[in-house]
Amino acid sequence: MTSFSDLGLNAALLKAVTSEGYTMPTPIQTQAIPPALTGRDVQGIAQTGTGKTAAFALPILQRLGASRARPAPKTCRALVLAPTRELASQIAESFRAYGRHTGLTVALVFGGVPKPRQTRQLAAGVDVLVATPGRLLDHLNDRAVRLDTVEVLVLDEADHMLDLGFIIPIRKIAALVPAKRQTLLFTATMPPEIAKLAGGLLRDPVHVAVVQVATTAERVTQHVVFVDTAAKRAALRGLLGKNGQGRTLVFTRTKHGADRVVKYLDEYGVPSAAIHGNKSQGQRERALAGFRAGTTRVLVATDIAARGIDVDDVTHVINFDLPNVPESYVHRIGRTARAGASGVAISLCGPDERPFLRDIEKLIRAKVPVMAAA
Ligand code: AMP
Repeated sequence: MTSFSDLGLNAALLKAVTSEGYTMPTPIQTQAIPPALTGRDVQGIAQTGTGKTAAFALPILQRLGASRARPAPKTCRALVLAPTRELASQIAESFRAYGRHTGLTVALVFGGVPKPRQTRQLAAGVDVLVATPGRLLDHLNDRAVRLDTVEVLVLDEADHMLDLGFIIPIRKIAALVPAKRQTLLFTATMPPEIAKLAGGLLRDPVHVAVVQVATTAERVTQHVVFVDTAAKRAALRGLLGKNGQGRTLVFTRTKHGADRVVKYLDEYGVPSAAIHGNKSQGQRERALAGFRAGTTRVLVATDIAARGIDVDDVTHVINFDLPNVPESYVHRIGRTARAGASGVAISLCGPDERPFLRDIEKLIRAKVPVMAAA
């Protein structure tokens, strides 16, 4: 199995990744980081939730950190374009987190807020600029920033850019970036317009892709149980009682939630263990070993911790809480459909979680069948 250190990342980045609680690279990271580190262009098919931000942020930080050239005033060395302010903010936050030991600077510009603060940040020059296309064009028109020193250009959620009518702004921006550059493009789907855009922007790209999440969802038998929040613990116990000897992965939204579930199950004599970011490496490994060996039938995990879990025959996934990011739902239930097997996923949905369920059903393009509470 590949670890982050096998990917060729430097010590400053490995340290940051460890403090983020990442133990293993995700598939898109394993595929995209090595070619990106060699300077190749990358075309990636991946959705949010796959770890794609680190897949492009880590190689960029390594490249920029390798030459200590300070950016000149009003310039940037890497430009990341994202369709929405939410995504742009998340990307900037990730660059700051992964780059915290590198001394590299990150600026964020998006529309809907006054410009002067952004202009001041650009004035000094930055290593990484994360921007939505419309507001970046404004700043370019104001001559608050120039793009003639950009070494790396990233387009994230390119298909969403298309939906929002950003293709022309992107072409305008790309024309201002030197032709000799590295370009990384990520998209969840590849409609013809995006294929054309990619063809024009990328040079001999490495193609990387992770499985479309919707196909996982089709292999798992899903149910939702509507319960009051206060009745969830009893409902969980009922479900575990029915599952027999299978291996069950229980998901909670928070680390504390995971600990509370373990404590509760303990009181009822159901052996379980929690795995999340506050646990030491040793604790995590012990919990996983017990789960693999079958001595701990129930593993309670948060989304992030679950990424590194590689256990093949999980028979049941129980969502104690519904995730607020719909893609996480698909990742969660996909833990029970490894290696072509099928599985069962049951979600406990409290009254305040109905909107999350609606988002999930939109993503998987199906209604999750309702099951009566135990
Ligand atoms: P993204 O698809 O980039 O939006 O990432 C989705 C989530 O996965 C974010 O919360 C990241 O912090 C998290 N993440 C990214 N890479 C890893 C990893 N290798 N291990 C665990 N979590 C990760």
